Amino acid sequence: MLTRINPFPEPNHDHQRCHSAIMQRARQLCKTRGLRLTKQRLQVLDVLANSHKALGAYEIRDILEQQDIHLAPISVYRQLDFLLENNLIHRIASLNAFMVCSHKDNNHGGQFLICEKCGVVAELIDLDINDVITTCAEKTGFNAKQPIVEVPGLCKYCQ
Ligand SMILES: [Zn+2]
Ligand SMILES: [Zn+2]
Ligand SMILES: [Zn+2]
Repeated sequence: MLTRINPFPEPNHDHQRCHSAIMQRARQLCKTRGLRLTKQRLQVLDVLANSHKALGAYEIRDILEQQDIHLAPISVYRQLDFLLENNLIHRIASLNAFMVCSHKDNNHGGQFLICEKCGVVAELIDLDINDVITTCAEKTGFNAKQPIVEVPGLCKYCQ
């Protein structure tokens, strides 16, 4: 069955291309849905799109501070909520952090491989794994919202 892997990016890849693809996708999505990509929404997305790492809300705020952009934590959370609702980012619960989604489709579960050294998170979507989780959950009478798995470890560049 379908497995889609967004592998760990090479440390010196041309990230500008990733960044523009993410920003372009966000603009397109907001246009299609008639949503406003406000300045603050863009600023928060821009920070996340600048790397493949998961960042906490306060880390995002600190990075914005360095750019002379002052957002209260509540505003950062509000922008993150918007980005989450529109599937432009994922929340990594085990890190209490957020990362940009590298897939085009909406609202997918998946497996997140989290490098504990460099902080980069890679996404896998394996429908077999999704099925196993959903089916096993059903057997206990549990209605799984999303078959999300977070796997800590070391990426190949950090081993
Ligand atoms: Zn990149
Ligand atoms: Zn994703
Ligand atoms: Zn790593």
